[in-house]
This record gives sequence, C-alpha cells and structure tokens, in this order.
Amino acid sequence: MNEPSLVRTSTADLYDAHVMRNYARSALTLVRGEGCRVWDDTGACYLDFTSGIAVNALGHSHPRWVAAVQRQAAELVHVSNLFRNPNQGELARRITCHAGPGRVFFCNSGAEANEGLIKLARLHGRRRSGGEEGKRFKVICARNAFHGRTFGGMSATPQEKIQGGFRPLVPGFAFGELNDVASFAALVDDTTAAIFVETIQGEGGVMPCTPEFLLGLRRLCDEHGLMLLLDEVQCGIGRTGRFYAYQHAGVEPDAVGMAKGLGGGFPIGAIWVREPYADLFQPGNHGTTFGGTPLACAAALATLDAIEQERLMEHVAAAGGPWIEALRGLAREFPAHVSAVRGQGFMVGVQMTGETGPWLTRLRERGLLAVASGHNVIRFLPPLNATAAELARSVEILRETLRAAA
Ligand SMILES: *Cc1c(COP(=O)(O)O)cnc(C)c1O
Repeated sequence: MNEPSLVRTSTADLYDAHVMRNYARSALTLVRGEGCRVWDDTGACYLDFTSGIAVNALGHSHPRWVAAVQRQAAELVHVSNLFRNPNQGELARRITCHAGPGRVFFCNSGAEANEGLIKLARLHGRRRSGGEEGKRFKVICARNAFHGRTFGGMSATPQEKIQGGFRPLVPGFAFGELNDVASFAALVDDTTAAIFVETIQGEGGVMPCTPEFLLGLRRLCDEHGLMLLLDEVQCGIGRTGRFYAYQHAGVEPDAVGMAKGLGGGFPIGAIWVREPYADLFQPGNHGTTFGGTPLACAAALATLDAIEQERLMEHVAAAGGPWIEALRGLAREFPAHVSAVRGQGFMVGVQMTGETGPWLTRLRERGLLAVASGHNVIRFLPPLNATAAELARSVEILRETLRAAA
C-alpha cells in the first residue's frame, strides 16, 4: 500500500491519476457558488447556466436551502425505509399536490426513477395478463430519447454512443418517432404494456413533445390499456414555468419520473403513480436503501418551499418567453451559426450549424457556462431564480461570441 502523500497535488493531477475517464470534462475546477454565479480555483467568476444539468433549481447556496439542510443534518440524516420519517411523508404529499391524487416512491437519481417506471410497466403487464408473467412487457419509447445509464434506462435509450459495448440489453423496448402518434400506434401489439417518453427531450437536443402528440399517446394508451409514463427528470420541477412540463399540454399521465431539480442540488429522485397503478409495488418487490432520507427530503421540501413562496414558476413563465425571443433574434442576426432556438421557460436549446465544443469554450472564456446537447445544440438551463438581467447578460455574451466569430 502506498502511504497517503503529504504533498498537496493539484486537482487536475488528482483527476489524471485517480478518477475514471468516463466524462469529457471541461478544464474548470469549480470551488464556490452563489446564486447564478460560480468561481473557479483561479478566482474567475462565471454565469452558471448549466445549474449542474438542471439540478440547482435555486442556484448555488440559496439561504433557505442551506439552513434547511444544516438543520436537518444536525437532527437526523438517514434511517432507511425500515422506518417512517416525517419529511418523506410530507414531501410525498407535496408532490401529489402538483401531480394529483396518487402515491410516491423515493429513490436517488433520474435513472433510478425511470427504472422504477419500467418495472411498474412490467407489473402492469403481468396484472393485465391475469397474473401471467412475460406475456405483456413491451415499452414503446421515442427515438433520440435519453432515460439514463442503468440497464433498463439504457435499453430505453436508442443511441449507439450510450448502448455500444453493453449488449445484450434488456429486451422488450421498441421505438417510435417523436411527435408521430401513428409511428407509436404501429408498434402496439398484444405484448405492449406502456408508452414512455420525455415530455421534452433534454439530452436529445431540447426536443419538445407537441401537445397533440401527448394527447394522442394518451388516447392510444386508453384504447389499448397501456400505461402512459412520462420522464420529467430534466423538464420537471418548475423548469418550464409549470411544475411538470406535461401540464402545458393538459395531458394526464399514469406515472411520472422526476429527479434533477427536485432536491435543489441534493441527490433525490421520485416516481409519482396514480390509481389504479399506485398499488402495483407491494412490500418486497421494489426498494432502495437511500430512498427518501430525512436529509434528502428536507432539501427537496426547502426547494419546493422556495419555488412556491418566491413564485419561481410564475417568474420562469414570465421571463422565459422574452429571453427565448431574444435568443431567436440572435438566430436571425447570425443565420450562418444559429439555425433555431427551441424550448420553454428555462430549458432552452440553441441549434448551431456546427460543432458545439468550440462554442462552449468561447462562451466560457467570456464568462458563461452552458451544456452541450443532442446534435450541435447549446443548452441553457439557468436556475429558476435567474433574474431578467442575468438572462439578458447570457444573450449579450452569446451575441458577443457570435460576432467575434463572424
Ligand atoms: C438526466 C436524465 C436522466 C438520468 O438521470 P440521472 O440522475 O443522471 O441518472 C434520465 N432522464 C432524463 C430525461 C434526464 O435528463
């Protein structure tokens, strides 16, 4: 065994030597954050429109969130699901206030939430087959989807860069074309249990489902006794100006997966399930040690409190439109570089005509952090409390960057 070194090595060197190489990481080492801003280890400050990939709903170090986490950490952190804890019950209630009557299961990530939805589809299929297993199991997803890196989520994610090397995958997935109900209908047969889509594809390049498509899937599910499952891991929790993005369309799903923004930076995921599906999970057939700890739920409750009391959904709805319009103005000003702007609220994709890597570097050099997505898309995911001035600043920085490249 090597002795732990007493010499303080640079963070970059530590990563080079000891951290797995599975991410294409930016060169920045971030050390501190406040609201919309983060600082790196050289003291440089950035406007953070990544929000840790749609996670930091309240930005960095929101005082209410910090106080709630500190208080809960000093009181009770983890008890497992061998016991009840007050925060989990209250958070489940709060989620049903937004999603409607039903029940909630807590987990720790988006992939794990989706894994729960896929397992739920299998149980629904078994129940519909009179208790016989393996007859009705197929889940129809969308091309270009992203549902996570577990075997279930990955099998629902039809992209070579994600599936390659890991076959054989979980059987029982089929893929229709986004916003084309007929392509989904053509895949429905006696083995189908559910339809499962992201309300707005996030990793796929900010590709929204149209309301007609979602309502069409709902009708298809009703006709064939299928569950409609929605992945709101990225677009949920106020990001589009409604608590769930599907609420803009007026569609009623049977179950919803959520995670990223829910804990305001603390890892927590959940699925909400309505009757008559809420009792499919029974004692023993699903679970997770860390699901719904007092600490995770305190972080989520503080996040929901802030979203509600600071009226952040109203803010996102009001500020998102003009911001997206301003970005569309850049598409008109620089058609050689920007071909479209998509999204809703604070989930926006700027479709570039070429590779995003160099653009993200130039934006970073001018003090703006954004995320690559899909095919040549720059994704902006500001915290829900980003001000109109901060949104305007992002447009300014993008304009300067485009102008410098023109
Ligand atoms: C991020 C994401 C996931 C996976 O979530 P993890 O927490 O990374 O496991 C699944 N679905 C969607 C839509 C996502 O954006």
